[in-house]
Amino acid sequence: MPTLKSDLKNTADGNKLTCPICSSPFLNIFPAGKCRTCARLVCGHCVHHDSPGHTDSICQDCIEKLTPRGRVAQMEANELLTVLQDPSSKDSPWVAQLLGDRKNPSALEPLCQALKSNRIDVRREAAKALGKMESDRAVPWLLTALKDSSSAVRSRATYSLAELDAQNAVTPLKKQLDDPSRQAAGYAVQALGKLMGNKACDLLRDLVYDHASSFVRCEALAVLAGLNHELALAAALRCLNDPKKEVIISACKILIKLNDLEAAPRLQELIEKKPPASVRITATATLNTLLGAKN
Ligand SMILES: [Zn+2]
Ligand SMILES: [Zn+2]
Repeated sequence: MPTLKSDLKNTADGNKLTCPICSSPFLNIFPAGKCRTCARLVCGHCVHHDSPGHTDSICQDCIEKLTPRGRVAQMEANELLTVLQDPSSKDSPWVAQLLGDRKNPSALEPLCQALKSNRIDVRREAAKALGKMESDRAVPWLLTALKDSSSAVRSRATYSLAELDAQNAVTPLKKQLDDPSRQAAGYAVQALGKLMGNKACDLLRDLVYDHASSFVRCEALAVLAGLNHELALAAALRCLNDPKKEVIISACKILIKLNDLEAAPRLQELIEKKPPASVRITATATLNTLLGAKN
């Protein structure tokens, strides 16, 4: 049986002393390995040693083919569509994901149909994939998916509508701000910021001030901070007086991002009021960061 050294020598003789996977040269410090499956010699970064003795190794390419994602990547195009429509296949969510990454227009219609699957994982991955397909034809399907019974599907549909710049999603997404799922409501805040840009500022400020969910309020403040410094600063300062600790703490994070010394006296006031420890620690750290940044 040839040793690693002789393999290295052979490849050297063949004038190809580089890894067949990543093309980097072989280095002594990372032990190379011969793949038990494809029998290639690959570099130390691209080989997985299964046992401490390094006698049985498998290369990165071969290990990927053992994953569900790698398994479906080897399928023919028509086989992929068959698997996508097979209600019992455990590979169908992976197929949906792969089809989205490949952006093949022939997968558009089957992915839209997959939003009607009985399985949440298939609907979720189809909703996600459609956001990558760069086609308006998916928009009406995704709008319907906003009413899906699963919050994971609603969240993914929301994200994809924003990716597709679907302006007619603005009104339904405003309704989704009251979604019982925090995740879906949070995605709606992000999506509205993306779809409306600066026109979302007033809406976001109102959400920070008035929304019933503190999670939505914190998300809205974070999105507002990316759009308008003055409005976000005023909103964050107001949040420092909030009765909810999590709102104050997330306002502190935003104040660090805004990096505006106008916040310093307000943070000082807050600290002097002897708030709960978690608030005091965060406010003190925020104040120190702001003061430190200007020195
Ligand atoms: Zn390599
Ligand atoms: Zn291999």
